[in-house]
Amino acid sequence: MITRSAHEMSSAMVSGEITSQELTKKHLERISAVDKEVHAFLHVDTEGAMSQAKAVDDARARGEKLGPLAGVPLALKDVLVQKGIPTTCGSKILEGWRPPYDATVVTRLKNAGVVILGKTNMDEFAMGSSTENSAYGPTHNPWDLSRIPGGSGGGSSASLAAFQAPLAIGTDTGGSIRQPAAVTGTVGVKPTYGGVSRYGLVAFSSSLDQAGPCARTVLDAALLHGVIAGHDPKDATSIDSPVPQVVAAARSGDVKGMKIGVVKELNGDGYQAGVRSRFEESLEHLAKAGAEIVEVSCPNFEYALAAYYLIAPSECSSNLARFDAMRYGLRVGDSDGASAESVMNFTREVGFGREVKRRIILGTYALSSGYFDAYYGSAQKVRTLIMQDFTNAFTKADVLVSPTSPTTAFKIGEKANDPLAMYLNDIATIPVNMAGIGGMSVPNGLAPEDNLPVGFQIMAPAMQDQRMYSVGASLEASLLSQWGAPLLSKIPALAGSK
Ligand code: GLN
Repeated sequence: MITRSAHEMSSAMVSGEITSQELTKKHLERISAVDKEVHAFLHVDTEGAMSQAKAVDDARARGEKLGPLAGVPLALKDVLVQKGIPTTCGSKILEGWRPPYDATVVTRLKNAGVVILGKTNMDEFAMGSSTENSAYGPTHNPWDLSRIPGGSGGGSSASLAAFQAPLAIGTDTGGSIRQPAAVTGTVGVKPTYGGVSRYGLVAFSSSLDQAGPCARTVLDAALLHGVIAGHDPKDATSIDSPVPQVVAAARSGDVKGMKIGVVKELNGDGYQAGVRSRFEESLEHLAKAGAEIVEVSCPNFEYALAAYYLIAPSECSSNLARFDAMRYGLRVGDSDGASAESVMNFTREVGFGREVKRRIILGTYALSSGYFDAYYGSAQKVRTLIMQDFTNAFTKADVLVSPTSPTTAFKIGEKANDPLAMYLNDIATIPVNMAGIGGMSVPNGLAPEDNLPVGFQIMAPAMQDQRMYSVGASLEASLLSQWGAPLLSKIPALAGSK
Protein backbone atom coordinates (compact mmCIF):
# COMPACT_ATOMS: atom_id res chain seq x y z
CA MET A 1 0.00 0.00 0.00
CA ILE A 2 2.71 2.56 0.91
CA THR A 3 4.32 2.25 -2.54
CA ARG A 4 1.11 3.38 -4.26
CA SER A 5 0.40 6.93 -5.37
CA ALA A 6 -1.58 9.31 -3.15
CA HIS A 7 -4.38 9.16 -5.70
CA GLU A 8 -4.51 5.36 -5.45
CA MET A 9 -4.39 5.53 -1.65
CA SER A 10 -7.34 7.88 -1.76
CA SER A 11 -9.32 5.47 -3.96
CA ALA A 12 -8.48 2.63 -1.57
CA MET A 13 -9.98 4.67 1.28
CA VAL A 14 -13.10 5.53 -0.75
CA SER A 15 -13.66 1.85 -1.61
CA GLY A 16 -13.17 0.80 2.01
CA GLU A 17 -10.04 -1.24 1.32
CA ILE A 18 -8.17 0.72 4.00
CA THR A 19 -8.91 3.45 6.55
CA SER A 20 -6.89 6.61 7.00
CA GLN A 21 -5.87 5.42 10.45
CA GLU A 22 -4.47 2.17 9.01
CA LEU A 23 -2.73 4.04 6.19
CA THR A 24 -1.26 6.59 8.58
CA LYS A 25 -0.06 3.83 10.91
CA LYS A 26 1.68 2.07 8.02
CA HIS A 27 3.56 5.26 7.19
CA LEU A 28 4.49 5.90 10.82
CA GLU A 29 5.84 2.34 11.00
CA ARG A 30 7.82 2.88 7.83
CA ILE A 31 9.28 6.06 9.33
CA SER A 32 10.30 4.16 12.48
CA ALA A 33 11.87 1.42 10.35
CA VAL A 34 13.99 3.53 7.99
CA ASP A 35 14.40 7.05 9.33
CA LYS A 36 17.47 6.19 11.39
CA GLU A 37 19.18 5.69 8.04
CA VAL A 38 17.43 8.37 5.95
CA HIS A 39 16.89 11.12 8.53
CA ALA A 40 14.16 12.80 6.53
CA PHE A 41 12.25 13.92 9.63
CA LEU A 42 13.10 16.38 12.39
CA HIS A 43 9.84 15.78 14.22
CA VAL A 44 7.21 13.06 13.90
CA ASP A 45 3.77 13.96 15.26
CA THR A 46 2.42 10.45 15.86
CA GLU A 47 -0.48 11.51 18.06
CA GLY A 48 -1.52 14.48 15.94
CA ALA A 49 -1.39 12.42 12.73
CA MET A 50 -3.47 9.59 14.21
CA SER A 51 -6.09 12.00 15.50
CA GLN A 52 -6.31 13.81 12.13
CA ALA A 53 -6.69 10.39 10.46
CA LYS A 54 -9.44 9.43 12.89
CA ALA A 55 -11.29 12.67 12.19
CA VAL A 56 -11.25 11.84 8.45
CA ASP A 57 -12.39 8.26 9.04
CA ASP A 58 -15.23 9.51 11.24
CA ALA A 59 -16.27 12.10 8.67
CA ARG A 60 -16.25 9.42 5.97
CA ALA A 61 -18.34 7.13 8.15
CA ARG A 62 -20.88 9.95 8.59
CA GLY A 63 -21.08 10.16 4.79
CA GLU A 64 -19.56 13.65 4.58
CA LYS A 65 -18.27 14.80 1.19
CA LEU A 66 -14.47 14.72 1.35
CA GLY A 67 -11.76 16.20 -0.88
CA PRO A 68 -9.54 14.09 -3.17
CA LEU A 69 -6.65 13.88 -0.67
CA ALA A 70 -8.65 13.38 2.53
CA GLY A 71 -6.92 10.91 4.80
CA VAL A 72 -3.67 10.83 2.80
CA PRO A 73 -0.48 11.38 4.86
CA LEU A 74 1.98 14.18 4.09
CA ALA A 75 5.42 15.36 5.24
CA LEU A 76 5.80 19.09 5.89
CA LYS A 77 9.04 21.02 5.41
CA ASP A 78 10.14 22.46 8.74
CA VAL A 79 10.06 26.03 7.40
CA LEU A 80 6.25 26.20 7.52
CA VAL A 81 4.66 26.85 10.88
CA GLN A 82 2.15 24.46 12.36
CA LYS A 83 0.43 25.45 15.59
CA GLY A 84 1.97 23.82 18.67
CA ILE A 85 4.43 21.71 16.63
CA PRO A 86 8.19 22.36 16.92
CA THR A 87 9.41 24.42 13.96
CA THR A 88 13.17 24.82 13.66
CA CYS A 89 13.91 25.68 9.98
CA GLY A 90 16.87 23.32 10.47
CA SER A 91 18.43 25.87 12.87
CA LYS A 92 19.54 25.75 16.49
CA ILE A 93 18.31 29.30 16.94
CA LEU A 94 14.68 28.14 16.85
CA GLU A 95 15.18 25.14 19.11
CA GLY A 96 12.24 24.76 21.46
CA TRP A 97 9.96 27.19 19.61
CA ARG A 98 6.37 26.12 19.08
CA PRO A 99 4.48 28.46 16.77
CA PRO A 100 1.16 29.85 18.02
CA TYR A 101 -0.56 29.65 14.61
CA ASP A 102 -0.86 27.66 11.37
CA ALA A 103 0.59 28.76 8.03
CA THR A 104 -2.14 29.19 5.40
CA VAL A 105 -0.73 26.14 3.57
CA VAL A 106 -1.18 24.14 6.79
CA THR A 107 -4.73 25.44 7.32
CA ARG A 108 -5.63 24.39 3.78
CA LEU A 109 -4.08 20.95 4.25
CA LYS A 110 -6.02 20.46 7.48
CA ASN A 111 -9.28 21.65 5.90
CA ALA A 112 -8.73 19.15 3.07
CA GLY A 113 -8.27 16.32 5.59
CA VAL A 114 -4.62 15.75 4.66
CA VAL A 115 -2.82 14.02 7.55
CA ILE A 116 0.40 15.79 8.58
CA LEU A 117 2.94 13.18 9.71
CA GLY A 118 5.67 15.56 10.84
CA LYS A 119 8.29 18.11 9.90
CA THR A 120 11.09 17.38 7.43
CA ASN A 121 14.78 18.14 7.55
CA MET A 122 16.24 21.01 5.53
CA ASP A 123 19.28 23.18 5.09
CA GLU A 124 19.25 25.85 7.79
CA PHE A 125 16.70 28.52 6.82
CA ALA A 126 16.53 26.87 3.37
CA MET A 127 20.06 27.94 2.43
CA GLY A 128 21.78 25.11 0.63
CA SER A 129 21.50 22.42 -2.02
CA SER A 130 22.26 19.25 -0.06
CA THR A 131 20.56 19.39 3.38
CA GLU A 132 24.08 19.21 4.87
CA ASN A 133 23.56 22.70 6.31
CA SER A 134 20.91 21.42 8.72
CA ALA A 135 21.97 21.95 12.33
CA TYR A 136 20.49 18.51 13.04
CA GLY A 137 22.65 16.47 10.65
CA PRO A 138 22.19 15.64 6.96
CA THR A 139 19.42 13.68 5.26
CA HIS A 140 20.57 10.69 3.18
CA ASN A 141 19.39 9.96 -0.35
CA PRO A 142 17.35 6.72 -0.27
CA TRP A 143 18.85 5.73 -3.65
CA ASP A 144 22.32 5.63 -2.10
CA LEU A 145 22.64 6.53 1.55
CA SER A 146 26.15 7.91 1.09
CA ARG A 147 24.75 10.64 -1.18
CA ILE A 148 22.87 13.91 -0.66
CA PRO A 149 19.09 14.10 -1.31
CA GLY A 150 19.41 17.66 -2.66
CA GLY A 151 18.46 20.77 -0.78
CA SER A 152 17.25 22.72 0.83
CA GLY A 153 14.17 20.48 0.98
CA GLY A 154 16.05 17.18 0.99
CA GLY A 155 13.95 15.82 3.85
CA SER A 156 10.69 16.26 1.95
CA SER A 157 11.94 14.58 -1.24
CA ALA A 158 13.77 11.80 0.61
CA SER A 159 10.60 11.00 2.56
CA LEU A 160 8.80 10.39 -0.76
CA ALA A 161 11.62 8.32 -2.22
CA ALA A 162 11.83 6.20 0.94
CA PHE A 163 8.04 5.65 0.97
CA GLN A 164 7.71 7.38 4.33
CA ALA A 165 5.04 9.67 2.86
CA PRO A 166 3.26 9.83 -0.52
CA LEU A 167 3.06 13.63 -0.46
CA ALA A 168 5.24 16.44 0.88
CA ILE A 169 5.43 20.21 0.94
CA GLY A 170 8.61 21.99 -0.07
CA THR A 171 9.66 25.59 -0.58
CA ASP A 172 11.68 26.92 -3.47
CA THR A 173 13.69 30.16 -3.39
CA GLY A 174 16.29 29.15 -5.97
CA GLY A 175 15.52 25.49 -6.63
CA SER A 176 14.87 23.85 -3.26
CA ILE A 177 11.83 21.93 -4.45
CA ARG A 178 13.04 21.04 -7.96
CA GLN A 179 16.66 20.04 -7.36
CA PRO A 180 15.82 17.62 -4.50
CA ALA A 181 13.05 16.19 -6.71
CA ALA A 182 15.58 15.68 -9.53
CA VAL A 183 18.15 13.83 -7.45
CA THR A 184 15.61 11.62 -5.65
CA GLY A 185 13.56 10.69 -8.74
CA THR A 186 10.42 12.46 -7.54
CA VAL A 187 8.16 15.27 -8.78
CA GLY A 188 8.54 18.81 -7.41
CA VAL A 189 6.73 21.98 -8.42
CA LYS A 190 7.50 25.62 -7.75
CA PRO A 191 4.21 27.37 -8.52
CA THR A 192 4.01 30.88 -9.95
CA TYR A 193 5.15 33.41 -7.32
CA GLY A 194 1.99 34.50 -5.53
CA GLY A 195 0.15 31.31 -6.46
CA VAL A 196 0.52 29.79 -2.99
CA SER A 197 0.31 31.87 0.20
CA ARG A 198 3.56 32.68 2.03
CA TYR A 199 1.71 33.41 5.29
CA GLY A 200 3.45 31.29 7.92
CA LEU A 201 6.38 30.38 5.67
CA VAL A 202 9.46 31.54 7.61
CA ALA A 203 11.01 34.03 5.19
CA PHE A 204 14.44 33.53 3.62
CA SER A 205 14.19 35.78 0.55
CA SER A 206 10.66 37.16 0.40
CA SER A 207 10.66 38.16 -3.28
CA LEU A 208 11.74 34.64 -4.32
CA ASP A 209 10.27 32.19 -1.74
CA GLN A 210 7.38 30.00 -2.81
CA ALA A 211 5.88 26.83 -1.28
CA GLY A 212 4.82 24.00 -3.55
CA PRO A 213 3.85 20.35 -3.90
CA CYS A 214 6.21 17.35 -3.87
CA ALA A 215 4.96 13.88 -4.83
CA ARG A 216 5.86 10.67 -6.64
CA THR A 217 3.54 11.27 -9.60
CA VAL A 218 2.51 14.31 -11.62
CA LEU A 219 -1.19 13.79 -10.84
CA ASP A 220 -0.49 13.62 -7.10
CA ALA A 221 1.47 16.88 -7.31
CA ALA A 222 -1.45 18.49 -9.17
CA LEU A 223 -3.98 17.32 -6.57
CA LEU A 224 -1.81 18.76 -3.80
CA HIS A 225 -1.25 21.97 -5.78
CA GLY A 226 -5.04 22.31 -6.02
CA VAL A 227 -5.35 22.02 -2.23
CA ILE A 228 -2.71 24.57 -1.23
CA ALA A 229 -3.02 27.21 -4.00
CA GLY A 230 -5.31 30.21 -4.24
CA HIS A 231 -5.68 33.77 -3.01
CA ASP A 232 -4.95 34.60 0.62
CA PRO A 233 -5.60 38.11 1.94
CA LYS A 234 -2.99 37.47 4.67
CA ASP A 235 -0.20 37.53 2.05
CA ALA A 236 0.14 40.85 0.25
CA THR A 237 1.88 39.15 -2.70
CA SER A 238 -0.84 36.53 -3.16
CA ILE A 239 -2.47 36.65 -6.61
CA ASP A 240 -6.22 37.18 -6.59
CA SER A 241 -7.24 35.15 -9.62
CA PRO A 242 -8.44 31.59 -10.22
CA VAL A 243 -5.98 28.74 -9.62
CA PRO A 244 -4.69 27.32 -12.95
CA GLN A 245 -6.44 24.07 -13.97
CA VAL A 246 -3.54 21.87 -12.92
CA VAL A 247 -5.48 18.69 -12.13
CA ALA A 248 -7.24 18.61 -15.50
CA ALA A 249 -3.89 19.17 -17.24
CA ALA A 250 -2.20 16.37 -15.27
CA ARG A 251 -5.03 14.00 -16.10
CA SER A 252 -4.97 14.70 -19.84
CA GLY A 253 -1.20 15.04 -20.37
CA ASP A 254 -1.94 16.39 -23.83
CA VAL A 255 0.98 18.11 -25.59
CA LYS A 256 -0.29 17.93 -29.18
CA GLY A 257 0.60 21.11 -31.01
CA MET A 258 2.42 22.52 -28.00
CA LYS A 259 5.67 24.35 -28.67
CA ILE A 260 8.44 23.29 -26.32
CA GLY A 261 11.49 25.55 -26.18
CA VAL A 262 14.87 24.08 -25.28
CA VAL A 263 16.91 26.76 -23.52
CA LYS A 264 20.27 26.74 -25.26
CA GLU A 265 22.08 28.23 -22.27
CA LEU A 266 20.84 25.54 -19.83
CA ASN A 267 22.17 22.46 -21.53
CA GLY A 268 25.86 23.06 -22.03
CA ASP A 269 29.27 21.71 -21.09
CA GLY A 270 28.90 21.79 -17.31
CA TYR A 271 26.17 19.13 -17.43
CA GLN A 272 26.90 15.46 -16.74
CA ALA A 273 26.83 13.32 -19.92
CA GLY A 274 24.05 11.03 -18.67
CA VAL A 275 21.92 14.01 -17.64
CA ARG A 276 22.21 15.41 -21.15
CA SER A 277 21.54 12.13 -22.94
CA ARG A 278 18.39 11.44 -20.91
CA PHE A 279 17.25 15.00 -21.60
CA GLU A 280 17.69 14.53 -25.36
CA GLU A 281 15.76 11.24 -25.26
CA SER A 282 12.89 12.90 -23.45
CA LEU A 283 12.69 15.61 -26.09
CA GLU A 284 12.15 12.80 -28.62
CA HIS A 285 9.36 11.34 -26.46
CA LEU A 286 7.64 14.72 -26.35
CA ALA A 287 8.02 15.15 -30.11
CA LYS A 288 6.46 11.71 -30.62
CA ALA A 289 3.58 12.77 -28.39
CA GLY A 290 2.87 15.62 -30.80
CA ALA A 291 4.85 18.56 -29.42
CA GLU A 292 7.01 20.75 -31.57
CA ILE A 293 10.56 21.18 -30.22
CA VAL A 294 12.21 24.54 -30.89
CA GLU A 295 15.42 26.10 -29.58
CA VAL A 296 15.35 29.38 -27.67
CA SER A 297 18.12 31.58 -26.34
CA CYS A 298 18.14 33.38 -22.99
CA PRO A 299 21.51 35.15 -23.01
CA ASN A 300 21.15 36.83 -19.61
CA PHE A 301 20.72 33.55 -17.73
CA GLU A 302 24.51 33.55 -17.54
CA TYR A 303 24.25 36.25 -14.86
CA ALA A 304 21.35 34.72 -12.92
CA LEU A 305 23.44 32.91 -10.32
CA ALA A 306 25.57 35.96 -9.50
CA ALA A 307 22.50 38.20 -9.22
CA TYR A 308 20.69 35.62 -7.08
CA TYR A 309 23.61 35.51 -4.64
CA LEU A 310 23.21 39.24 -4.10
CA ILE A 311 19.42 39.43 -3.91
CA ALA A 312 18.79 36.34 -1.76
CA PRO A 313 21.48 37.14 0.86
CA SER A 314 20.37 40.81 0.96
CA GLU A 315 16.79 39.85 1.72
CA CYS A 316 17.94 37.16 4.17
CA SER A 317 20.12 39.61 6.11
CA SER A 318 17.02 41.68 6.70
CA ASN A 319 14.57 38.80 7.30
CA LEU A 320 16.84 36.99 9.78
CA ALA A 321 17.28 40.12 11.89
CA ARG A 322 14.11 39.04 13.73
CA PHE A 323 16.01 36.21 15.42
CA ASP A 324 17.25 38.41 18.21
CA ALA A 325 17.10 36.06 21.23
CA MET A 326 14.11 37.95 22.58
CA ARG A 327 11.20 36.53 20.63
CA TYR A 328 11.90 32.94 19.56
CA GLY A 329 13.72 29.80 20.69
CA LEU A 330 17.31 29.98 21.83
CA ARG A 331 18.75 32.54 24.30
CA VAL A 332 22.42 32.44 25.24
CA GLY A 333 24.46 34.48 27.73
CA ASP A 334 21.43 35.77 29.63
CA SER A 335 23.12 36.21 33.01
CA ASP A 336 22.64 38.95 35.61
CA GLY A 337 23.75 42.28 34.24
CA ALA A 338 24.17 41.07 30.63
CA SER A 339 23.05 43.70 28.14
CA ALA A 340 20.38 42.92 25.57
CA GLU A 341 22.98 43.52 22.88
CA SER A 342 25.42 40.96 24.25
CA VAL A 343 22.65 38.35 24.64
CA MET A 344 21.66 39.02 21.06
CA ASN A 345 25.23 38.71 19.83
CA PHE A 346 25.96 35.52 21.75
CA THR A 347 22.70 33.92 20.67
CA ARG A 348 23.23 34.72 16.99
CA GLU A 349 26.86 33.58 17.18
CA VAL A 350 25.89 30.21 18.69
CA GLY A 351 22.49 29.80 17.05
CA PHE A 352 23.30 30.34 13.37
CA GLY A 353 25.42 27.98 11.29
CA ARG A 354 28.27 28.94 8.96
CA GLU A 355 26.30 29.21 5.72
CA VAL A 356 23.63 31.39 7.30
CA LYS A 357 26.29 33.70 8.73
CA ARG A 358 28.02 33.84 5.34
CA ARG A 359 24.77 34.94 3.69
CA ILE A 360 23.94 37.52 6.38
CA ILE A 361 27.41 39.05 6.01
CA LEU A 362 27.22 39.02 2.19
CA GLY A 363 23.76 40.56 2.22
CA THR A 364 24.58 43.22 4.79
CA TYR A 365 27.57 44.22 2.68
CA ALA A 366 25.54 44.32 -0.54
CA LEU A 367 22.95 46.59 1.09
CA SER A 368 25.41 48.89 2.85
CA SER A 369 25.52 52.53 1.90
CA GLY A 370 28.00 53.20 -0.90
CA TYR A 371 27.65 49.63 -2.22
CA PHE A 372 23.88 49.41 -2.59
CA ASP A 373 23.74 50.58 -6.22
CA ALA A 374 26.82 48.64 -7.29
CA TYR A 375 25.59 45.31 -5.88
CA TYR A 376 21.93 45.12 -4.94
CA GLY A 377 20.87 47.69 -7.54
CA SER A 378 22.78 45.97 -10.35
CA ALA A 379 21.40 42.60 -9.36
CA GLN A 380 17.86 43.94 -9.61
CA LYS A 381 18.62 45.22 -13.12
CA VAL A 382 19.88 41.77 -14.09
CA ARG A 383 16.65 40.38 -12.72
CA THR A 384 14.72 42.56 -15.17
CA LEU A 385 16.90 41.32 -18.04
CA ILE A 386 16.18 37.71 -17.06
CA MET A 387 12.44 38.44 -17.04
CA GLN A 388 12.78 39.95 -20.52
CA ASP A 389 14.61 36.83 -21.73
CA PHE A 390 11.68 34.73 -20.53
CA THR A 391 9.14 37.07 -22.11
CA ASN A 392 10.95 36.83 -25.45
CA ALA A 393 11.34 33.05 -25.21
CA PHE A 394 7.64 32.62 -24.43
CA THR A 395 6.75 34.32 -27.72
CA LYS A 396 8.42 31.35 -29.44
CA ALA A 397 7.34 28.53 -27.12
CA ASP A 398 4.51 27.63 -24.74
CA VAL A 399 6.87 26.11 -22.17
CA LEU A 400 10.65 26.02 -21.80
CA VAL A 401 12.64 22.95 -20.77
CA SER A 402 16.11 22.00 -19.50
CA PRO A 403 17.74 19.44 -17.25
CA THR A 404 16.79 20.36 -13.65
CA SER A 405 20.21 19.91 -12.15
CA PRO A 406 23.60 19.61 -13.90
CA THR A 407 24.53 16.37 -12.09
CA THR A 408 23.00 13.44 -10.25
CA ALA A 409 23.28 13.26 -6.44
CA PHE A 410 26.83 13.80 -5.20
CA LYS A 411 28.45 12.26 -2.13
CA ILE A 412 27.77 13.72 1.31
CA GLY A 413 30.78 15.90 2.15
CA GLU A 414 31.94 16.23 -1.47
CA LYS A 415 31.02 19.91 -1.87
CA ALA A 416 30.44 20.90 1.74
CA ASN A 417 33.52 23.11 1.93
CA ASP A 418 33.19 24.70 -1.49
CA PRO A 419 30.29 27.19 -1.52
CA LEU A 420 30.67 27.99 -5.23
CA ALA A 421 30.51 24.31 -6.25
CA MET A 422 27.39 24.03 -4.09
CA TYR A 423 25.80 27.16 -5.57
CA LEU A 424 26.35 25.86 -9.12
CA ASN A 425 23.77 23.11 -8.50
CA ASP A 426 21.06 25.70 -8.98
CA ILE A 427 22.30 27.11 -12.27
CA ALA A 428 19.22 25.86 -14.14
CA THR A 429 16.60 26.45 -11.46
CA ILE A 430 17.38 30.01 -10.29
CA PRO A 431 16.15 31.92 -13.40
CA VAL A 432 12.57 30.74 -12.71
CA ASN A 433 12.59 32.30 -9.22
CA MET A 434 14.14 35.50 -10.49
CA ALA A 435 11.24 35.90 -12.92
CA GLY A 436 8.52 34.72 -10.53
CA ILE A 437 7.25 32.11 -13.00
CA GLY A 438 6.46 28.40 -12.49
CA GLY A 439 8.93 25.51 -12.67
CA MET A 440 8.55 21.74 -12.31
CA SER A 441 10.95 18.82 -12.13
CA VAL A 442 9.78 15.38 -13.26
CA PRO A 443 11.73 12.11 -13.04
CA ASN A 444 13.70 11.49 -16.20
CA GLY A 445 15.08 8.00 -15.69
CA LEU A 446 18.51 7.12 -14.38
CA ALA A 447 21.87 8.35 -15.65
CA PRO A 448 23.63 5.46 -17.39
CA GLU A 449 27.00 6.16 -15.74
CA ASP A 450 25.84 5.94 -12.10
CA ASN A 451 22.25 4.62 -12.12
CA LEU A 452 21.05 7.63 -10.16
CA PRO A 453 17.92 9.71 -10.86
CA VAL A 454 17.90 12.60 -13.33
CA GLY A 455 15.36 15.43 -13.45
CA PHE A 456 13.65 17.12 -16.41
CA GLN A 457 12.66 20.75 -15.82
CA ILE A 458 9.59 22.41 -17.34
CA MET A 459 9.03 26.18 -17.04
CA ALA A 460 5.80 28.04 -17.83
CA PRO A 461 4.72 31.70 -17.90
CA ALA A 462 3.19 33.20 -14.76
CA MET A 463 -0.21 31.70 -13.89
CA GLN A 464 0.07 29.16 -16.71
CA ASP A 465 1.17 26.41 -14.32
CA GLN A 466 -1.20 23.93 -15.98
CA ARG A 467 1.12 23.80 -19.00
CA MET A 468 3.89 22.27 -16.89
CA TYR A 469 1.51 19.58 -15.72
CA SER A 470 0.48 18.71 -19.31
CA VAL A 471 4.11 18.27 -20.33
CA GLY A 472 5.08 16.52 -17.09
CA ALA A 473 2.22 14.04 -17.38
CA SER A 474 3.01 13.34 -21.03
CA LEU A 475 6.64 12.63 -20.24
CA GLU A 476 5.74 10.51 -17.22
CA ALA A 477 3.44 8.38 -19.42
CA SER A 478 6.12 7.98 -22.12
CA LEU A 479 8.75 6.95 -19.60
CA LEU A 480 6.49 4.48 -17.82
CA SER A 481 7.27 1.54 -20.09
CA GLN A 482 11.01 2.22 -19.86
CA TRP A 483 11.33 2.82 -16.13
CA GLY A 484 8.29 1.28 -14.49
CA ALA A 485 5.73 2.96 -12.29
CA PRO A 486 6.74 4.57 -10.19
CA LEU A 487 10.39 4.83 -11.10
CA LEU A 488 11.02 4.50 -7.38
CA SER A 489 10.11 0.83 -7.26
CA LYS A 490 13.68 0.35 -8.53
CA ILE A 491 15.11 2.04 -5.49
CA PRO A 492 18.13 0.00 -4.37
CA ALA A 493 18.76 1.26 -0.83
CA LEU A 494 16.36 0.15 1.91
CA ALA A 495 14.75 -2.38 -0.40
CA GLY A 496 14.74 -5.06 2.28
CA SER A 497 12.78 -3.00 4.75
CA LYS A 498 10.06 -1.86 2.32
N1 GLN B 1 20.28 26.31 -3.08
C1 GLN B 1 19.81 27.65 -3.16
C2 GLN B 1 20.35 28.46 -2.01
O1 GLN B 1 21.13 27.95 -1.29
C3 GLN B 1 18.31 27.66 -3.19
C4 GLN B 1 17.69 27.47 -1.86
C5 GLN B 1 16.21 27.46 -1.87
O2 GLN B 1 15.57 27.37 -2.92
N2 GLN B 1 15.64 27.60 -0.69
O3 GLN B 1 20.02 29.57 -1.80
